[in-house]
Amino acid sequence: MAGSLQETVGVLPPLHSSFPSRAPSPRKGANTLMAEQSPRRSIESWAHDLPVSFVECRTMGHRWQPHSATWDREARAYHVIHACDRCRTQRKAWWTRNGEVTAAGYTYPEGYLTRDVGYVGADGRGVLRTEYLTRMFNTTTRRANANGHGDAAPES
Ligand SMILES: [Zn+2]
Repeated sequence: MAGSLQETVGVLPPLHSSFPSRAPSPRKGANTLMAEQSPRRSIESWAHDLPVSFVECRTMGHRWQPHSATWDREARAYHVIHACDRCRTQRKAWWTRNGEVTAAGYTYPEGYLTRDVGYVGADGRGVLRTEYLTRMFNTTTRRANANGHGDAAPES
């Protein structure tokens, strides 16, 4: 393993950090800007147009890999970054030596957030699951040469 995964726990070798070292920012991270604007399109049509990676992450949760932790001397905390290798969302946080999270936020890829449809509640997540299933079955049916029922031409 070529050390792309640095998980430093316990006593910390002060690694040189290449992050822009900013001190832990005030408690509410960058994240909570999930626009609560008025819906402009239906959640169905939005879900239908999402990249498959977004549908999967919104259905199953992110796949946090790779992750890294770097000691930041100035901030006196670890800058911990989890990245989703499927949709490219990043979760960045500052953790103290004792494991306390002093600041955290997410960086989402373009198009991940739901500006046009407003907040995705329980119903919306249902729509996303339906979309997930639709795509899954479309893919397998196509591959399995559509051996469902109904659209094979009836022979007589
Ligand atoms: Zn993801």
